[in-house]
Amino acid sequence: MTNIYVTKSFMPPEGEYEQIIHSVFQNRILTNHGPLVQELEQKLEKFLGVKNLQYVTNGTIALQLALRALNITEGEIITTPFSYVATVSSILWERCTPVFADIEPDNFTIDPNKIEALITPKTKAIMPVHVFGYACDVKRIGEIAKQHGLKVIYDGAHAFGSRYQGKSLLDYGDVSTLSFHATKLFHTVEGGACIVQNDEDDHKLDLIKRFGHNEDEHFSLGINGKQSEFHAAMGLANFPYIGEIIADRKRASDLYDNLLQGCLKRPRPQDGLEYNYAYYPVIFKSETELLDVFNALNKEGIFPRRYFYPSLNTLPYLNSRQACPISEDISCRIACLPLYVGLENETIEHICRIIKDNTL
Ligand SMILES: *Cc1c(COP(=O)(O)O)cnc(C)c1O
Repeated sequence: MTNIYVTKSFMPPEGEYEQIIHSVFQNRILTNHGPLVQELEQKLEKFLGVKNLQYVTNGTIALQLALRALNITEGEIITTPFSYVATVSSILWERCTPVFADIEPDNFTIDPNKIEALITPKTKAIMPVHVFGYACDVKRIGEIAKQHGLKVIYDGAHAFGSRYQGKSLLDYGDVSTLSFHATKLFHTVEGGACIVQNDEDDHKLDLIKRFGHNEDEHFSLGINGKQSEFHAAMGLANFPYIGEIIADRKRASDLYDNLLQGCLKRPRPQDGLEYNYAYYPVIFKSETELLDVFNALNKEGIFPRRYFYPSLNTLPYLNSRQACPISEDISCRIACLPLYVGLENETIEHICRIIKDNTL
């Protein structure tokens, strides 16, 4: 019996990847904004309906480049405690202070009503996360930012393919970032992107991701965020399958929905959201129930994951403690069930049977 994990990377047909790589062996352009990187950027811009998409090495550097491009090098950034650690570590790595606004209990995104009370003269930006591909309250967040002169950087690592009110969820804020890590819905092995609304910020981000210079002229401090042609090739090989990837994940999610009806609590997506089926989170009644179900599943070689645990406001290396009761409660009781292309119906039925046998 092979183990079932929470995710399994989609792989394009080997020959199709090789065919794209063939050109690299011919032209020997391996990196530095080569033709494959440019082609992928153009295809992604078109697919998402956005402009100024910059393909970078990963989703974490994308967040850090976004902060730098917007000149945010100190001060406070209001963010969510319910996310992957990279959201908060990128803020800390850039020597800024994360300030946590608690989440909405229905869809786990940052609660805009909690943002305003946390704004101080030191606040520079808001960094919300479209967690699991659900939409933040982009309208309210935009209004708050405008009123207080704050930048908005959306961590859109989960939002690829989600559309909200007729456009990509990544077309909001000053910058939206993406991750194309192997575990994400659309991947390039490692990789990420920044989608920058303002052309001047876009230009700055492009400069700082390649050491801040153009030939021998040095303009600003920079870093290396450039992505390779081999990674772009994986993206180009996966690109034609995006529709199939989302459709097959929907098939698996719908089956879970049917089989688990009334058994476990599920997030309530916003009206007007076309969901990308990036994850299948379920909320247990208690941490004990979660651990019981995990035990039973693990015995059968099935390994769901606790996403996201712990709540990031409780990280041990933070300078100050801030309470976020909703996020702390949800974090203890939430898990993502296996969801990936090719996950068999029988496996889903097996998982649901075990869950039902171990919940009230
Ligand atoms: C995966 C992820 C990141 C980091 O992306 P990498 O490409 O792994 O660096 C950032 N934020 C969230 C919410 C993520 O899930």
